[in-house]
Amino acid sequence: MLAERVVRSTCPFCGVGCQVDLHVREDLIYRVSAPYDAAPNYGMLCVKGRFGTDFTSHPSRLTSPLIRVNTSEPRSAPPVWRQATWDEALDLVADRLTAIVRESGGDAIAAFACAKATNEDNYLLQKLVRAVLGTNNVDHCSRLCHAGSVAGLQLAIGSSAMSNSIAEMEHLDTFIVTGSNTTETHPVISNFLKRAVRQHGARLIVVDPRKIEMTDFATLWLRQRPGTDVAVWQAMAHVVVKERLYNERFIQDRTEGFSDYIESLEAFTPEWAEGVSGVPAEDIRQAARMYATATAASVYWGMGISQSSHGTDNTLAITNLALMCGQLGREGTGLNPLRGQNNVQGCSDSGGLPYVFTAYQRVDDPAIRSRFAQAWKRPDLNPTPGLMITELADAVLAGAVRAFFVMGEDPLTSEPNLNHARHAFEKLDFLVCQDIFLNTTAELADVVLPSVSFAEKDGTFTNSDRRIQRVRTALPAVGQSRADWVIVGDLARRLEARLGQSPSAGFDYQHPSEIWDEMRLLTPDFGGIDYERLEREGGVHWPCPTTDHPGSPYLFKEDFPRGRGKFWKLEYGTESELPDETYPLILSTGRVLYHWHGGTLSRRSKLDEIWPEATVEVHPDDAEGLGVHTGDWVSVSSRRGSITLRVMVTGRSPQGTVFIPFHFAEAAANILTLDRLDLRAKIPDFKVCAVRLEKSAPPADHDPAADQPLTQRGAIKDQAVLVH
Ligand code: SF4
Repeated sequence: MLAERVVRSTCPFCGVGCQVDLHVREDLIYRVSAPYDAAPNYGMLCVKGRFGTDFTSHPSRLTSPLIRVNTSEPRSAPPVWRQATWDEALDLVADRLTAIVRESGGDAIAAFACAKATNEDNYLLQKLVRAVLGTNNVDHCSRLCHAGSVAGLQLAIGSSAMSNSIAEMEHLDTFIVTGSNTTETHPVISNFLKRAVRQHGARLIVVDPRKIEMTDFATLWLRQRPGTDVAVWQAMAHVVVKERLYNERFIQDRTEGFSDYIESLEAFTPEWAEGVSGVPAEDIRQAARMYATATAASVYWGMGISQSSHGTDNTLAITNLALMCGQLGREGTGLNPLRGQNNVQGCSDSGGLPYVFTAYQRVDDPAIRSRFAQAWKRPDLNPTPGLMITELADAVLAGAVRAFFVMGEDPLTSEPNLNHARHAFEKLDFLVCQDIFLNTTAELADVVLPSVSFAEKDGTFTNSDRRIQRVRTALPAVGQSRADWVIVGDLARRLEARLGQSPSAGFDYQHPSEIWDEMRLLTPDFGGIDYERLEREGGVHWPCPTTDHPGSPYLFKEDFPRGRGKFWKLEYGTESELPDETYPLILSTGRVLYHWHGGTLSRRSKLDEIWPEATVEVHPDDAEGLGVHTGDWVSVSSRRGSITLRVMVTGRSPQGTVFIPFHFAEAAANILTLDRLDLRAKIPDFKVCAVRLEKSAPPADHDPAADQPLTQRGAIKDQAVLVH
């Protein structure tokens, strides 16, 4: 089949940001290939990028605005919708939000920005929230994935993005992967890391409770008990100090607080850490020596580090070790939180956070605020940081927040302790959801606004290594759906008119490049990047302050954004909910290769046929004790709720720990998870809570004809990462 057009764009799934060529015929993407000459993936794609974009033509795409008809019934009642025109829907949203602003102030409204949408979409949403509604209540799912990394890195060095580029990975000397099931969550990055080991002799240390595929490539695997990361990393630092393996020059020239920190390490012996974590003391010593003495060593981590009630401490422990060993500021070194969704880095960079404008410029800094106030013609921008996503449920129940505007997210799948979150959503006075599909959250909405997919719009995404890349229109919009930036701009103009705000903050744009140009003028880190340059170069790493700056594949050559890197003294303790007699197992949640996030996209794709239902990984010893086998149904219960799903018996998780992917609304893992938060990052503990398993009948709505042996899925999985 010959394509009518082939359009270069960026994969809509994970933060690797693979470049894709979309082959289109009759307004359908029938094939996706990867350019061999384009960073960051150089011809590679995983199964999601290669075969998962068929969600764009799924029949359940939203095609027109919907207005809820049965508003006299409780919000929990099954929704009855009527199709509406854009004018009807946006007027209704503008009227209701205006009334709430007048009655309760802008702080009574909160917006969810979207890590799947473009930088331009998110910039405009936070501009609407700040300049029109007058609140800083805008946040996004980064709160639920890497907030622990962001808080820790900001405290220690003043910057929270990956410090080094994907291009460096293949030529690493020594590296640590921790809390990241890289082959499933960032498959193409995992290929570069595996090549570093197999083709270039790099040494890999894995620190992870699960026997993930990366352990097959590891020189050393430290299998800590879930939630004991601080003990292991602090013990490694203890070894570095005792054996005087630290980098005195780097510590003297680039850091502060080392002598205090050394004293605090005294009690963190490897033997003590072995008792806490189960990792043999000698392995901790060996790992510390390998990392400290390497010519260049780097650390890559995922949500196993950040999604914890002590996620900030986990990150600080890693950062302390890197500072001590001087493994920063050079190629092949660095601190690298692997960002999850396609544009979660960009959503944060674009101001989709409650305490900062673009590129982490604080809203409570008068000089910065004044620059934005001038550009947006709003002298009274709110200086108080807004609420974080994980604070919103309680704020609604306390009556402080009355309305949510949710752009492209499904918080009623992704929030912890979902029964509590749902209770809060049901209490809202007004809920708007903007998405390409109806999802669990949208089922409760008053108004649903249909937006377009990545393949139907222009804009930019920023991948995990800070590379800004183009997204290009390959397909026409479905039905009446519109780009997020178009919807947000239209709504903003209607709100400004109702609120009597004149002159306008500026929401008339003909093309997203105009939004980007406004954004870069307000953001020194993006100053040298425009659409023309992206067209020419394919992508540019920020910071890039001027048009003649080459971009920054790696950071901190001379200094850190906070000046000197700061050592943070840490104590070991846990706020996690630990197993007991009633709930004897630890639950850890995460992703599988074939699905993405809340499943909104991947479950409307052929990918869902490969992995069509939720499973709970159970260790063989635990399975024997419970009398269950692969394919049996079990109910998994915590103090917060219960779900029913199938068992997969495997030694991947350690004995005493079960693992459930969070993509499946019908067996939502987050009904079980705990909403206890890390005090600084406000991120929940998705990796450790206490549960029990009991053999169960299938759910009432289960169709036996749809059964597929799990063993078959395993066979498919082994072939799924396509490497050239
Ligand atoms: Fe897409 Fe990530 Fe797979 Fe690349 S590795 S194809 S960006 S899902």
